[in-house]
Amino acid sequence: MKKALITGISGQDGSYLAEYLLELGYSVYGMVRRETATMRWLSPIQDKIEVLYGDMRDAASLEVAFAKASPDEVYNLAGQVFVPTSWQIPAETFDINVGGLTRLLNIIERQKPDTRIYQASSSEMYGNQNGLRNEQTGLAPTSPYGVSKTAAHRLCGVYRERGIFAVGGILFNHESPRRGPEMVTRKITLAAADWAQGKKGKLKLGNMQARRDWGFAGDYVRAMHAMLQQEKPNDYVIATGESHSVYEFVVEVLQCLDLVPSGRNLAEVVNEFVEVDPKLFRTGEIHDLRGDSSLARRSLNWNPDVDFKGLVRMMVESDALGREQDHVAKSQFLRS
Ligand code: GDP
Repeated sequence: MKKALITGISGQDGSYLAEYLLELGYSVYGMVRRETATMRWLSPIQDKIEVLYGDMRDAASLEVAFAKASPDEVYNLAGQVFVPTSWQIPAETFDINVGGLTRLLNIIERQKPDTRIYQASSSEMYGNQNGLRNEQTGLAPTSPYGVSKTAAHRLCGVYRERGIFAVGGILFNHESPRRGPEMVTRKITLAAADWAQGKKGKLKLGNMQARRDWGFAGDYVRAMHAMLQQEKPNDYVIATGESHSVYEFVVEVLQCLDLVPSGRNLAEVVNEFVEVDPKLFRTGEIHDLRGDSSLARRSLNWNPDVDFKGLVRMMVESDALGREQDHVAKSQFLRS
């Protein structure tokens, strides 16, 4: 039975990955810094996983967690993931996102160099460039978060040269009902759920013209696992290939909840729901992110099951109708 250690197991990706690896028969160890509300995503599997406490900034705690798990595969999903926060605490963002990976790679090299490691790289590394991005596209990050992810991605590359099986999964935005409430998709679905129940407070958003390539996190964790099963380590882009604006996401959510009565002007309904707040606009905004995942589709045989409309529906149903359990079952059904 293979053993996996997942850092950040209580997050969106960590919890989906843990479910997937259990289905595949893995022994799953997961590291968390402390008990957080997101531990609830783990409650259906809490008896099947071993939770270890550790902090990406603390080498000794990582060493203990690694020794306990003695893993065949490490999935480094822990991180400071919110771009605006990376401007507030840039040094801490680096210490977690770059220092944490550095500590893990050093432990792997010393304790068990045949351990394979997956690094959560990000489409934020690309910055503003035209068109579809693939593994050959140059990196030009525009925020401390993007620079930290770029440094960590490069670090995997140099350890790979030294013989460690380290891969960077360049995942474009991926969402789900478990997405953190500060990210724009979840912020919208949570506010729309309130709105549908008659709470008419306005939702404040920043740049609604920004476009992202949004996929479903449950689909993307399958790619993480597949990357570590290849003969040779390589980096892969994971994306749907489609981008939509924040405005389009809002419209899709409102339509999904039947909040646009026939005959009403769509823009008017959006204006009733949303107030644009200039304070939420970003320096270094990335205007359009769209990924070309043809390498992953070809080499990993990976394909997403959930499209943009399906993703919105899943998030809306969970937030407005409390259907998280249904959607877990559905995502498992879709995979099989
Ligand atoms: P990111 O792409 O990893 O930074 O994911 P986010 O969900 O935080 O942001 C996606 C896009 O939505 C960015 O271009 C943001 O500028 C834009 N956006 C517009 N309004 C908001 C908002 O109120 N909150 C967040 N988080 N993003 C917003």
